[in-house]
Amino acid sequence: MPRYEFRCRECGTSFEVSRPMAESGAPASCPRGHGDTVKLLSAVAVGGTSAAPAPAARGGGGGCCGGGCCG
Ligand SMILES: [Zn+2]
Repeated sequence: MPRYEFRCRECGTSFEVSRPMAESGAPASCPRGHGDTVKLLSAVAVGGTSAAPAPAARGGGGGCCGGGCCG
């Protein structure tokens, strides 16, 4: 479920709300009970934050070409 970041304009608290995309535009209440909140245009992370890129295992010795399999 995507997360949306909101910010309260009354107390300045930033908070995240997990909700379906269909309700992404619905207003969210501040954890402190304020109703004057705005949705921040942050990157929507579906399924958590992106993982680190895979380690580069290519390159290096080039053992394949040593055996004549590359022509
Ligand atoms: Zn608030």
